[in-house]
Amino acid sequence: MRQEKIQVANWGNFPVMDALVYTPGSTDECLQVVQTCDTLIARGNGKCYGDAALSSHLLSTLSLNNILHFDAAQGIIDCEAGVLLADVLRIAVPKGWFFHVTPGIKNITVGGAVASDVHGKNHPVKGCFSNFLLSFQLMRADGSVVTCSKAENSDLFWQTCGGMGWTGIILSARFQLMRISSTTMRQRTVRADTLDALLRAFEEHRGWTYGAGWLDALASGSSFGRGVLYLAEHEEAQVGEVLQFEEQTGYSIPFYAPSWLLNPLSIRAHNAMLFSKGNSVEGTVGMDRYFYPLDKIGQWNRLYGRRGFVQYQFCLPENHAFDGLKSILETIKKSSDTPFLSVLKRHGERPAEAIHSFPEKGYSLALDFPRTRTVEGLVNRLDEVVWQHDGKIYLTKDALSAPRMGRVNPRDFGEAKFFSSLKGRLLAGPPD
Ligand SMILES: Cc1cc2nc3c(=O)[nH]c(=O)nc-3n(C[C@H](O)[C@H](O)[C@H](O)COP(=O)(O)OP(=O)(O)OC[C@H]3O[C@@H](n4cnc5c(N)ncnc54)[C@H](O)[C@@H]3O)c2cc1C
Repeated sequence: MRQEKIQVANWGNFPVMDALVYTPGSTDECLQVVQTCDTLIARGNGKCYGDAALSSHLLSTLSLNNILHFDAAQGIIDCEAGVLLADVLRIAVPKGWFFHVTPGIKNITVGGAVASDVHGKNHPVKGCFSNFLLSFQLMRADGSVVTCSKAENSDLFWQTCGGMGWTGIILSARFQLMRISSTTMRQRTVRADTLDALLRAFEEHRGWTYGAGWLDALASGSSFGRGVLYLAEHEEAQVGEVLQFEEQTGYSIPFYAPSWLLNPLSIRAHNAMLFSKGNSVEGTVGMDRYFYPLDKIGQWNRLYGRRGFVQYQFCLPENHAFDGLKSILETIKKSSDTPFLSVLKRHGERPAEAIHSFPEKGYSLALDFPRTRTVEGLVNRLDEVVWQHDGKIYLTKDALSAPRMGRVNPRDFGEAKFFSSLKGRLLAGPPD
């Protein structure tokens, strides 16, 4: 088993920690790690943004990467936790299967998808990853391995989905895929001149399966809150179409960009370009480009420079969405920090049993801020607005928020052994 002492960070490149990383290749080796370490946390592909998959001792699942069984007739996959969603796509798409729920990145592990209970651009229709999760194997602090499903050990099942690794090490998972007959998506973009129009556009197009918006967080005056809504549906098969998952060929950012690259001027220019291109266009686009647009640019996190960045993602209930979003944008405008990407999504009901799933009926907004000296203060002020509007933050993105913001109290579940620096921050704060 590989074992190395290295500096580790997640996708935001902040914070950075010294950690002893174990990479077991079997359940027996996982057991050795669990028995050896007083505390540790599972780590998938480190694509959470903040400090969720960080601790002084890490168990990397990247060598637990075998597909155990693929039932191509029923679309059911059983695989080890370190299998990447991209690996699943390569074998499933040619047989006519795709994920019911996928996040906007395919280089995450199945274990990470379960532990964050990820959502996609179709949350009102399909919910989170857990909706299609049939069962998983979980190694607990005492080394025992438990099978969890909605019928067997169901409390532990729901504590683990979205439970950020605090209940144990997910060793493998079995989940249901969705039939597709084509790898092409029909896409429509709808431009909205104001925040009100953008939220209305989401409501008016609720018949579409997929929808996500980009919001111009810098626009002001009569354009305040303007944005573009990107809608899509799976296409029917073209005559003679051979199903294959075609990945976009892209490039990689070779080094950290200087910190001045993303400044209010360059971000404004980028926003103006996005807005002007978003004028009610209809067309077709490949699945990889629609679902995973950012995967085309390898290491794009380096654009934020060596100091890294923080992604602040929050969800507001429907009745507070407009006021809350307005207040968030106003708070940002008063600050010296400028978000680069801002992605708005509409969410449906959270099933009562999915206690740790992030999305609630309403809207979520994800904002990427370069890490500056002032950004922590801004996050504190944004936390206050989100809290006042009954919202919550997405723990898998969090690096700086106040302990109460995930509306999760680690004392209510989880095991002392499975400890991330995020959990440490939450435990240090006052309970809700
Ligand atoms: C560009 C980009 C786009 C994204 N888009 C979305 C999106 O649309 N929707 C969405 O929901 N998320 C999105 N995410 C977030 C991402 O999907 C989650 O953070 C996911 O959990 C990362 O998986 P990972 O394998 O990299 O896990 P890591 O980042 O390594 O870990 C994430 C969490 O899962 C836990 N964990 C990982 N593996 C296991 C295991 N085997 N057992 C127990 N716990 C485990 C870790 O302890 C940690 O708490 C995006 C991230 C990026 C970088």
